[in-house]
Amino acid sequence: MSDSVKIHPAVDGGVKAGADGFNGGELSCNCATDKVVVRVAAQSAHNHVCGCTKCWKPAGALFSQVAVVPRDKVTVTANAHKLKVVDESATIQRHACTECGTHMYGRIENTGHPFYGLDFIHTELSDSDGWSGAEFAAFVSSIIESGTKPEDMSGVRARLKELNLEPYDCLSPPLMDAIAAHMAK
Ligand SMILES: [Zn+2]
Ligand SMILES: [Zn+2]
Repeated sequence: MSDSVKIHPAVDGGVKAGADGFNGGELSCNCATDKVVVRVAAQSAHNHVCGCTKCWKPAGALFSQVAVVPRDKVTVTANAHKLKVVDESATIQRHACTECGTHMYGRIENTGHPFYGLDFIHTELSDSDGWSGAEFAAFVSSIIESGTKPEDMSGVRARLKELNLEPYDCLSPPLMDAIAAHMAK
């Protein structure tokens, strides 16, 4: 019944688990030619769907899907000149293709930030299978800011639970704990 709610193409048919021993692949933007290519030499971690208005979402998706990898494992290998930071004032500097709009990686330059050292990537931009699967849903209520009606939210949350993507209106408890522990130092 609730599979009429489209969360994100990577999870709508069921979340795929990551493969043991998988160690990365290439992300490509959506341009037909001269694609921006980013080489990621690591398995992704903390993959999740995100409802915030800043993360890049494929056309028609209610949520983005976003994961982290160590920043020293991320290398732009083709057409780097097409990349530009979407919002220089944002905590996460999202490097997007100026032609197709796809966000290729997000980087935190503030060395005091709890997530400094990690880049944010969208694993569905890769042809490789084996990336870690989405584990939870973050900032669920924020999809109202991009047009979802409040009365549709119970259906969205029901579908997320059906997909084993526990809905949170911030990050997951372990990640919120990591932020709080960093701030307490
Ligand atoms: Zn592009
Ligand atoms: Zn987000």
